[in-house]
Amino acid sequence: MAIYDTARGLLADALFSQVAIHAEYGGVVPELASRDHIRKTLPLVDKVLAEAELLKTDIDGIAYTAGPGLVGALMVGATLGRSMARGLGVPSLGIHHMEGHLLAPMLADEPPQWPFVALLVSGGHTQLVRVDGLGRYKLLGESLDDAAGEAFDKTAKMLELGYPGGPAVAALAEQGNPARFDFPRPMVKRPGLDFSFSGLKTHTRTTIAAEGKKPQGLTDIDKADIARAFESAVVDTLVIKCRRALKQEGLRTLVMAGGVSANKRLRAALTEKLGPEGMGVYYPAPSLCTDNGAMIAYAGAQRMVAGERDTDDTDVRARWPMTELAPPSQAA
Ligand code: ATP
Ligand code: FE
Repeated sequence: MAIYDTARGLLADALFSQVAIHAEYGGVVPELASRDHIRKTLPLVDKVLAEAELLKTDIDGIAYTAGPGLVGALMVGATLGRSMARGLGVPSLGIHHMEGHLLAPMLADEPPQWPFVALLVSGGHTQLVRVDGLGRYKLLGESLDDAAGEAFDKTAKMLELGYPGGPAVAALAEQGNPARFDFPRPMVKRPGLDFSFSGLKTHTRTTIAAEGKKPQGLTDIDKADIARAFESAVVDTLVIKCRRALKQEGLRTLVMAGGVSANKRLRAALTEKLGPEGMGVYYPAPSLCTDNGAMIAYAGAQRMVAGERDTDDTDVRARWPMTELAPPSQAA
């Protein structure tokens, strides 16, 4: 939940993480997620209003996530957002979750300027998108199987590091020896901008099984070295494709967003590789990389200022390709 002011910027941003609830099950349990949303949304509304020192009646419009994602969880936010807006007599607007991620870097003190290439790397998506303006998105390439974040989460599971896996794998990789294993960089030799991470996942599983057969079993050092090799393979692959996308589009600005963009080694590698070639690399503050309310408030504000509004038949969507998005519509 967040409050964004087009003149003063982000006024409040609060998060209730469900990680503790889902950790027990090793992943998100849809029904638990939506039930918990019901309990937590209204208290979070009060929290952000208090933080911003505003009243509900000060709010000019309400944006909520309309998809893609788990329908139960989406419905909780959409129902609350739309009914609050109706009660207050202000407009509401359903926002695409990935557009939220994509625009999160705009909340920085020195935001990037379009046109740019965006690398969206999250739990469910790995995409390269050409961005020419708000709602002007062209998909350049995407993962043909697992998303990068999903690969991190699965690797964490195989290494018994718990959920969510990305930060745990990254932390362990810090202690790993980069020279011990050399994992494949999937699809970098083929032309094009698509990704594939399932082969890397299989390679990781095979390595874990082979090392685990030793008399001493899989040691903490083995785990760290494997985490490091896995992370390096993902980072290298992403860097190669980002560079290729920038060259193909003739652009000099790369913007990354989504949970995996919090990865320190990925941030450093992109800056190190692309910086000397005169390309600028932008990414959100770590708290704005993973899911947050601020990115939805920001995206909503941009579209609402341009006149876009929910219509009576706006609905939540479990599936919703970002390529279906258009610039703000003036439809009232
Ligand atoms: P999507 O946005 O595609 O619908 P999501 O909302 O579940 O999926 P995000 O919240 O954007 O995904 O990001 C979560 C993902 O980011 C998880 O897969 C997590 O493991 C990964 N992640 C978070 N921090 C890091 C990190 N430091 N290094 C690598 N991966 C990370
Ligand atoms: Fe997300």
